[in-house]
Amino acid sequence: MEVETKLNLAACPPEILAVDANAETLWRVLLRKVGITISKGEHIEDRGAWILRNLGVPDLASRLGIQNQVEKGGPQDDVARAVIWRHVCEASSAGDSIADISEQNRYVLNAYIIPKDKKFSNPVDALRQASRTLPLCANEKCPHGPDGTRATVSSPRAKYCSKSCRNVVSRRDGFAKPKKLAA
Ligand SMILES: [Zn+2]
Repeated sequence: MEVETKLNLAACPPEILAVDANAETLWRVLLRKVGITISKGEHIEDRGAWILRNLGVPDLASRLGIQNQVEKGGPQDDVARAVIWRHVCEASSAGDSIADISEQNRYVLNAYIIPKDKKFSNPVDALRQASRTLPLCANEKCPHGPDGTRATVSSPRAKYCSKSCRNVVSRRDGFAKPKKLAA
């Protein structure tokens, strides 16, 4: 009988499998993010692997164990668990600090969230998506789009892409509307 076998990171450790239904999948995400190399069914030992074996795995098992108690055998809280997986991943990776999760950056949790409908939208993607469906500037001679073409408005409620376009049109139409609404 062997005295002690070094934990092989190639397979998700049993203590993690025991505390998360998605452990197999999330473990592979973790290995990729931390930068663990698997070769011939075993991990290559380096600084990241050492940290993950000695600090990351016990930390992850303990945090997910506590999460299990919080859930009291009910459905897994995917977001709470994503916070845990990401934290351990960041703590096991190179770099000194772990950025806090806020409303603005919580899409970074998506890598650790399995159900698609639970994932957060990336504000940049959302903005790009919205700009595709926004109407064109109401100034038909608007030059503010790419390469001097007509621009799209910046929000669904705006009529013009800019103050200058609004001014151009109101001057041309010979009247100035009270500017109660912000462009
Ligand atoms: Zn315009």
